[in-house]
Amino acid sequence: MTSDNPQVGVTVLGSGSSGNAIVVHTETDGFLIDAGFSARELKRRMREAGIDESLIRAIIVSHEHGDHVRGLRVCAKQLQVPIYANRRTADAIRQREKDLGQVHVFASGNPFRVGECQVEPFSIPHDANDPVGFVIRWHDRKIGLATDLGHASHLVCYQLKSCDLLVVESNHDIQMLSRSERPWSLKQRILSRHGHLSNAASMELLQRVLDERTKHLVLAHASQECNRYELVEESIQTCLAGLGREDISAYVAKQDSWLPTVWV
Ligand SMILES: [Zn+2]
Ligand SMILES: [Zn+2]
Repeated sequence: MTSDNPQVGVTVLGSGSSGNAIVVHTETDGFLIDAGFSARELKRRMREAGIDESLIRAIIVSHEHGDHVRGLRVCAKQLQVPIYANRRTADAIRQREKDLGQVHVFASGNPFRVGECQVEPFSIPHDANDPVGFVIRWHDRKIGLATDLGHASHLVCYQLKSCDLLVVESNHDIQMLSRSERPWSLKQRILSRHGHLSNAASMELLQRVLDERTKHLVLAHASQECNRYELVEESIQTCLAGLGREDISAYVAKQDSWLPTVWV
């Protein structure tokens, strides 16, 4: 990255049902989306990924599930940054974390600024109090993120159109999920319109939203028991070939390791 070609980077520190955290950063500042790892683990991954923690200005929360907020309170305290969440998400987190401290409350649908970026939270269908995905704008760049998604609603597809970079979930392989040892109730939850996107559903979403502007994709939140990273890789490559879009770079985010920064 050179200063005459400024870019915004997205670094997935880890993703899956055991923990999620993503850093969006420029040369001068950045923020975390979710803090689903312990503060120690999250800081270790940032350090390894080459992200200076003094760049972080905020932690923005997508929803209250443990895999997104496990390290939230301690991370915010240690990094000395404010937490941003919508009212119902903040209330849900506070029920478990009494001394969460002050939360900057945003309303789904209302954009706000963190450092150089504009953040636009939008409602997504998922079984939490008021879950959101995000569109991040920086100069003329647009990044779309939606990692826990029961189905691709019209609003989701509308928001994720014309992004330079998309981070969407590709959670499970339907057959692996059906064959898994998981209790029937949990399988139903995952498969419901407020659960998670299967690999096939994720590809359908991408077929609806990809346009000539999109150059990078990150497939996230893959289940470790009901999916395989190779399957996600295979389905995205087949999908992109079918669309004649081999120009798009696709990456699969992992649970146990961070993904090198994708710059746009
Ligand atoms: Zn969730
Ligand atoms: Zn999740």
